[in-house]
Amino acid sequence: MEFAHDTQIVLAAAASLVNTASTETDVLDGQEAFDAWLDGQPYTGDRAHTEAERRSVRDLRERLAALWPAPDRDGEPDRDRTVELVNDLLDETDARPHLARHDGWDWHLHVTPRRAPLAHRIGAEVAMAVADLVRGDDLSRLRRCAGDDCDAVLVDLSRNRSKRFCDTGNCANRAHVAAYRARRARATG
Ligand SMILES: [Zn+2]
Ligand SMILES: [Zn+2]
Repeated sequence: MEFAHDTQIVLAAAASLVNTASTETDVLDGQEAFDAWLDGQPYTGDRAHTEAERRSVRDLRERLAALWPAPDRDGEPDRDRTVELVNDLLDETDARPHLARHDGWDWHLHVTPRRAPLAHRIGAEVAMAVADLVRGDDLSRLRRCAGDDCDAVLVDLSRNRSKRFCDTGNCANRAHVAAYRARRARATG
């Protein structure tokens, strides 16, 4: 299955949001940090710049984390539970999918009006993107980083499903170094 460009962007942004929960300083704790983080994200439309907005995004972040397998469990997320969350989000956010073209982006899916609250826009877009995964039975593409001591979530939309490490840390690098050291220790042992 080929994934639409906007599906990829939305899922990557969702992973990025979920991963902010486990960084040393939470970008949702302060308005400035949150604004700076949001500037690097693909969301367009109105922003309230209020504490209430941050709170609603924080609530959403907790719910979106459930799209990924629990940190201590392998395997893929529960499909039926995911469907429940997707449908709840589409319902709560009053999703009305339509195609939009703006700011240099070609036609892509918008799920809520530009004036909808930020948490609704994020929630609805993630719900639509995850709906793609559910329909293609592709939920296993939402997984946890294979790095030691790393619980970051990732999205693997690669053709050969080869992505094992998150984008947040240096996990792929550290794993390669550890494997190299282990090989060398065996060789010289
Ligand atoms: Zn757009
Ligand atoms: Zn990692």
